[in-house]
Amino acid sequence: MTDLVVGLGSSRGVRAAAVWSALRLAVLDLGEVIAFGTIDRRRDEPGLLAVIGEHGAPLHCYPAAELDAVDVPHPSEPVRGYVGTRSVAEAAALLLARDLGGGSLVVPKLRGEHVTVAVAALTPLLISSACTACGGCLRTCPQRALRPAPQRPVVVAAHCTSCGECVEICPTDAITLRDELGYPRAK
Ligand code: SF4
Ligand code: SF4
Repeated sequence: MTDLVVGLGSSRGVRAAAVWSALRLAVLDLGEVIAFGTIDRRRDEPGLLAVIGEHGAPLHCYPAAELDAVDVPHPSEPVRGYVGTRSVAEAAALLLARDLGGGSLVVPKLRGEHVTVAVAALTPLLISSACTACGGCLRTCPQRALRPAPQRPVVVAAHCTSCGECVEICPTDAITLRDELGYPRAK
């Protein structure tokens, strides 16, 4: 199971039914969604809150300036004119993924009726700065899910089965798997 985070942008007065509809188009299994993100000024938007409350995952809200600083695939100057950031949904999904240890956009901005949705998948494990790039985990992974990178290996989420073998082999204790809520597991 992949842990997903969802960024939501909306107009004032968006209907909950429209939010559900866009969400179901963007995400096949809503049980994989562990958090939602949006812009500060929509933290009290009834249509969004109804959907998020029914789903049960927490909502994280970000200031416009923080969202605007994120490099996104579909920035919009008109949107910045309205709300102060060139992106809400894509930027919120990427900020949430960053805050939860890293991830990448898997569903770019999708438009519904007065709502936009974007989805990021979290990396299944976290590799800390304790990594010395020894390469042990790359040689150990039975799925070949780890790839070399300049500072520390990166994981290909689609290949990782969260078996934990890399965690066991790492001499510097640099690798942590996520728990079922998407947060680092206690060791
Ligand atoms: S085994 Fe640990 S220290 Fe070695 S490359 Fe992998 S994460 Fe880094
Ligand atoms: S948890 Fe298992 S499958 Fe995932 S990267 Fe580590 S060794 Fe490979």
